[in-house]
Amino acid sequence: HAKKLGKGQFQFYTESLNVAARDRLALDSALRRALEQDELYVVYQPKVDARGRPFGFEALVRWDSAEFGSVSPVRFIPLAEENGLIGQLTWFVLRAACHEAARWRAAGHERLRVAVNISPSLFREKDLAALVRSVLEEAGLPPGNLELEITEGMLMGDVQRALAVLDELKAMGVYIAVDDFGTGYSSLAYLKRFPIDILKVDRSFVLECDQGNGGLAITRAIVSLAHSLNLRVVAEGVEKQTQLAVLNALGCEEFQGYLFARPLPAAQLAGYLDEKSPK
Ligand code: C2E
Ligand code: MG
Ligand code: MG
Ligand code: MG
Repeated sequence: HAKKLGKGQFQFYTESLNVAARDRLALDSALRRALEQDELYVVYQPKVDARGRPFGFEALVRWDSAEFGSVSPVRFIPLAEENGLIGQLTWFVLRAACHEAARWRAAGHERLRVAVNISPSLFREKDLAALVRSVLEEAGLPPGNLELEITEGMLMGDVQRALAVLDELKAMGVYIAVDDFGTGYSSLAYLKRFPIDILKVDRSFVLECDQGNGGLAITRAIVSLAHSLNLRVVAEGVEKQTQLAVLNALGCEEFQGYLFARPLPAAQLAGYLDEKSPK
């Protein structure tokens, strides 16, 4: 019904679009500078057993921008995927995470895994296996201490390439987890076809697993599917004791969420480990 709109209204509409585009452009160049000026850092959220003892940590990137304040990764990761900065950003997070995990090892925590999120776009464009190998070597971290969280979207598109990269990482000894499981559009067949070790039940299912209306049924189905394929199950976004009770009864191996801990700055990890995983 564009014809019904007066001229003024149409101008108002295009102006607000321009403002959005200008904001985006500003955020874009701010992110470019952030990568050079140390505005990005990594926090670490524990993955624990039912008694709260840590198996490892997920590395989550943070951006405190001089210009925009604290910006959520939900906002700037998609931007980095579009503007080509995702490679540089992932390299930054991967290096920080691997060096951090090497410090845990040196402190006697030899089995803790660090998990890094990998965007689908990076997976398609770059030689991920070579990148990972070089960072592990530089940090002196054994591949068995690294886990990569990929999403279902990564397994669509160029399936042959995805398979080749994952097989190479798997052969190195790196663990592969499927993040946000159940929210993507890909077929379940990939679970059998790809060398996956771990399945992370999406927070949206965890949120409803202690409710009657089918929430429990779906979570139970996901966990039993994973176990029948010999995958380890991690529940993300666990906030309530009642959710933990259900997930534990279903046989989930690992739990992650505010009930146990929020993402922690690297400087707090030694104290956390002293308390939860004493040597
Ligand atoms: P994700 O990988 O599924 O990470 C889990 C998100 O849930 C994190 O948000 C975490 O802080 C949050 N979370 C953890 N426990 C709870 C809980 O109990 N309740 C609630 N409500 N939330 C919880 P965050 O750090 O804002 O990250 C959001 C998303 O941004 C991540 O989802 C991931 O997709 C992306 N992301 C974060 N860091 C990176 C990164 O370094 N690289 C890439 N490619 N993506 C990243
Ligand atoms: Mg993740
Ligand atoms: Mg997740
Ligand atoms: Mg999620």
